[in-house]
Amino acid sequence: MTLPKLKRVLLKLSGEVLMGDQQYGIDPSFVAELAKEVKAAKDGGLEICLVIGGGNIFRGMAGAAKGMDRAQADYMGMLATVMNALAMQNALEQIGVPTRVQSAIEMDKVCEPVIRRRAERHLEKGRVVIFAAGVGAPYFTTDSGAALRAAEMRCDALLKGTSVDGVYNADPKQDPNAVRYDTVDYDTVLAGNLKVMDASAVALCRDNKIPIVVFSIRERGNLAAVLAGQGVQTIVR
Ligand code: UDP
Repeated sequence: MTLPKLKRVLLKLSGEVLMGDQQYGIDPSFVAELAKEVKAAKDGGLEICLVIGGGNIFRGMAGAAKGMDRAQADYMGMLATVMNALAMQNALEQIGVPTRVQSAIEMDKVCEPVIRRRAERHLEKGRVVIFAAGVGAPYFTTDSGAALRAAEMRCDALLKGTSVDGVYNADPKQDPNAVRYDTVDYDTVLAGNLKVMDASAVALCRDNKIPIVVFSIRERGNLAAVLAGQGVQTIVR
């Protein structure tokens, strides 16, 4: 199954891929490698919106599990995504890719607020736009933020670059017989509670007919391969 011709995509990267081989935080050399992958995709003619998670720094659920107020912990998680966005902006601009960060939590000293028309203009001018702070509200994740921005920016696909190479019918870490889907429909993902993105993100993509491509961003060159229809991936549609 190949994707339709892509002009504009939203690339969602889990925060954990910014850690490289570390256990926590940001590995600038790894972020630089990711930036090269993004540049290659952009040089291939794509307009690119980026959303980066915050799990390498802080997740609200983890804070709540240790007794924090959930909403407060989620705000900390959202701030973590802004740090990751700034790290990626830095890495992209160091290799000559003009980039703007737009945050759902206004922070006018460090980045722009989310303004759709302005983001459109950035893309027209060949800039990468990184959307930070998810949807700007607690009890959501950056997956939902990615689905929302993909819909708002009318992206042709949501590419989810993570540490696994697709969607399996069971957890491959627990079940050696787990099988990876090449394609799967949204409702199967939702009914089976398959680990792709959270349900609200999948439902938003379904309702707006945005295909989700799940692939491993840890292998060098894989983003380009996926875009060329040659990579290992699962397409949810
Ligand atoms: N978060 C939030 N609202 C959003 C997006 C993110 O509250 O719209 C918080 C939430 O606590 C989440 C954290 O930010 O756990 C980091 O995002 P996420 O877990 O999605 O990062 P990823 O797993 O992709 O690294």
